[in-house]
Parts: sequence; C-alpha cells; structure tokens
Amino acid sequence: MATSDPVDAARRRIDAARRVVVLTGAGISTESGIPDFRGPQGVWTRNPAAEKQSTIQNYLAEPEVRKAAWRSRLDSPAWSAEPNAGHRALVALERRGILHALVTQNIDELHQRAGSSPDLVVEVHGSMRRVMCWECGRRAPMEEALARVRAGEDDPHCLACGGILKSDTISFGQALVPEVIDRAMTAAAEADLLLAVGTTLQVQPVASMVPIAARAGAQIVIVNDQPTAMDSIADVVLRSKIGPALAALCGGVAR
Ligand SMILES: [Zn+2]
Repeated sequence: MATSDPVDAARRRIDAARRVVVLTGAGISTESGIPDFRGPQGVWTRNPAAEKQSTIQNYLAEPEVRKAAWRSRLDSPAWSAEPNAGHRALVALERRGILHALVTQNIDELHQRAGSSPDLVVEVHGSMRRVMCWECGRRAPMEEALARVRAGEDDPHCLACGGILKSDTISFGQALVPEVIDRAMTAAAEADLLLAVGTTLQVQPVASMVPIAARAGAQIVIVNDQPTAMDSIADVVLRSKIGPALAALCGGVAR
C-alpha cells in the first residue's frame, strides 16, 4: 500500500533489495563525536588556515607542518570515538546477507570497529589508523608512529628507508587511488539499492556513485540532516539524524 511515511517507504525498498551498496560520509561519524571538516561546525570552516596546512605539498615541504600534524594527531578525538547506532545498523544489514559494499569517505575505521567485514569496506580516503611512507610506500599501524612521538620524536620517519611518514589518508592535493575509486564505481553499478548516508554528495568522484547506480536501475535512498546535491534523483530522502534512521531502516523489522 502506498504510504507517505518516508521511513516506511525506505525500509520497504531495503527489504526488497538483494545488493545494497552503502556510501557513508562525515555525518555518520559526527554522531560518534568526530568533527567533520566542511560542515557548519567543521574544522576547516572555523579555521581555514588548517585546510591550507593540510595540503600534501606543505606537509612534504615543511618540517614545521609535519610536527604540528603529529602533535594534533596525538590529540585527535577520533582515537577514543566509538561506533554508534548507525554503524551497528549497517552491521545488521550485512548479517542479512544483502550488503554488497560499504563505501566510506571516513578515515576513522568505525565501520570495521563496529563489526563490518573489512572485505566489504571501501575506504576512498584511506585510514588514519595507518601510516604510509611517502618514499617506499610501506604501511604500518599509526599507533607505532604515535608511540614514537610520545617518546619524544617530533617528526618520525620511515624505519625502513628514512622517508617522510604521513597518515595513510588522501590529503588535499593528493590523488585518489584509482583502483579504490574503480571498486566504488563498479559496486554502484552493480547495486539494486544505493543508500547514501551522512554526505551532502558534493565531492566528486564519489558523489557520482549515485547517478551511476540510478542509471543502472537501482533505488536511491538518501539519509542526511541537510539537503544533498542528489536529492532530486533519489526515490526516498530522509532528513534526519543518522543513527536512529539507520536503526529503523536496516534491521529487517517486521512491518
Ligand atoms: Zn620508507
């Protein structure tokens, strides 16, 4: 029966889907206390100089920028953040056997910590819980590098080759990883439902997952507390907090 309740409309579509692809943005992590960058209270909105400092060119060229980056990494609220009801709801979706891929713009690994299978998580902007060497490409746990900072090194370098270490994330001015983006786009084309969560869908190329999925015939469900660039092509838009909305949508509750 037709209904005007968007939660019900979205849930019925998810219950009918076999290959759900989820795209998550900063909005799901802010509900775990991780600040976003471009939102109204975002780090860069309030301090534009911080955005400039975070470019890869500045990071590689200026030891003082790296030292400041390591100090701020030590204090990041993300280390103590816990997954919330939204992350847990996506684990429930996976357990129903209908989650095809979980593409995230977030770098906090909260999906994996909630219990999402690492094989299904596509991190388009990398992970802050790893470091990578700009010289030799070696990756290692961030915690090892942070321990060296706590022990007194202000700009730890690669133990293998002496190269500059940075978090294994995509900085401003740094290219996305083509294989990772390909995987996200392929998943979008294979979806029969695309669920976009906590993103205003303004950042390309990831935002184009939505029209790619729509052209392939997928249902489009958007959950975000602000308007998004793709609302006009969505089948259902929920303008609400993410945790409660996903809990209502993903559990396969009898109706
Ligand atoms: Zn190295």
